Formats: sequence, C-alpha cells, structure tokens
Amino acid sequence: MSGPGEGTGGEDDIEAGTEAERKMRFLFALRSHGVTDRRVLEAMEAIDRGAFVKGLFAGRAYDDVPLPIACGQTISQPSVVGLMTQALNPGPRDKVLEVGTGSGYQAAVLSQLARRVYTVDRHRRLVREADALFRALGLTNIVTRVADGSFGLAEQAPFDRILVTAAAEDPPGPLLAQLREGGIMVVPVGQSDHVQHLIKVVRTPAGYDYEELRAVRFVPLLEGLAED
Ligand code: SAH
Repeated sequence: MSGPGEGTGGEDDIEAGTEAERKMRFLFALRSHGVTDRRVLEAMEAIDRGAFVKGLFAGRAYDDVPLPIACGQTISQPSVVGLMTQALNPGPRDKVLEVGTGSGYQAAVLSQLARRVYTVDRHRRLVREADALFRALGLTNIVTRVADGSFGLAEQAPFDRILVTAAAEDPPGPLLAQLREGGIMVVPVGQSDHVQHLIKVVRTPAGYDYEELRAVRFVPLLEGLAED
C-alpha cells in the first residue's frame, strides 16, 4: 500500500538501496569476513556479480550467500571467492587454472589479477554461457574449456596458480603435477556431505607444503564430463 508521500521513484530507490549503497554493503561484507587485500577488493568491485546470477535469484546477487545456477550447481559466496582469491594471491604475470567454471564469476575476478585464466567445467552449458558472458564483458584474457578438471589442462601446464572450486577427497595428483615450482594451489578438500577444508598447497623445490585455511562447503568434484 502506498500512503501519502510514498511511492515516488526517489524514495523507492532509497528503500531498495542505490547502486552505490549496494556496492558499499557488498564490499563491507567482504572486509568483515577477512578479505582485506586491496587488489582483491578492487577486482571484486570491478566485476559485477549481478551479471553472473540469472532468474529467480538475481535480486540476491549482492548478498553474501551462495546461489543456485544452471545444471544444479552454485555460484560461491562472495566472501569465500574473496578469501580463496586472496589465498591464491595471483600476480599480474601469472597463468592461472580454475577448475569449476560454474557461473564464471570467480574466473572473472581472477581475470582482473592475472595475465591469463584458463577455466574448465564438466558441464558444456555452463562453459558456453560463461564464455558468452566473458565476451560480452570484454574479459579477453579468459580461456574456457569443457573438460574433467581433475586431470588439469596438460596442454597449458605448468600453472603459476591453480584454484579448484569443487571439493575433492584429496588434492588431485595431476593438478599437483601441473603446478609450477613456487606455485600455489587452493582447493577444498573433504567428502561432499561432510565438513570440507580449504587447503593451500605451495610447491617447493623439495615437494609440497600444505596449510589448512578454513571450513567450507562446496559441490563435489565429479569424474568425467556431464551430459549437458
Ligand atoms: N567457480 C564457480 C562456482 C563453481 S561450482 C563460480 O564462480 O560460479 C563448482 C563447479 O565445478 C560446477 O560448475 C561443476 O560442474 C564443476 N565441476 C565439478 N567437478 C568437475 C570436474 N571434474 N571438472 C570440471 N568441473 C567440475
């Protein structure tokens, strides 16, 4: 119901929050969850999450929650995207592999920070839609592939950084092998219906160092290509 003085465009805007306010709230939520790296915050300010969330849930694109996307998958929570990106710490000369394109949002954030981003998903439809979005947004340093990412992307290896956005029971061997010495991989590890932990792996001259970052919840890393 609209009473006296209500219902003007201006006041509706204030109630719904202007774009600037929405952006401020979005960045505030990131900071309050520990995303403090200036470059990561700038990248997440530059990439509009609203472009990656379609349909029913579009109105919640700026909330710090995971949301459903096509093929029964999810776009990760922004603060988790921020923390993973921060832990990965990609540099401007880095070649990055992302396993699990999903909506494409995480790859788009990485594209602001790295030289080139290769992103793979087992669902053709997700790769097709993300690829179209990257073109529309002019994100020309992202290369998409339909592939089972547990085997990495041998043709482009080694990678300076590898980010896995689906949970594996262990960090997949081929991904460890495709990580350059001095490189960093961030991967959620654990069974899909249990608590998973975000692990940071650093490849050293002697082998691999593992650090447990925090508890997370991701969809599982599945074998083979999907039907769609
Ligand atoms: N990074 C995404 C969210 C990923 S959800 C985003 O920003 O929106 C996890 C994705 O991993 C899903 O799209 C799922 O299809 C994909 N996935 C699961 N197992 C995979 C595998 N073996 N190879 C490639 N992609 C896989």
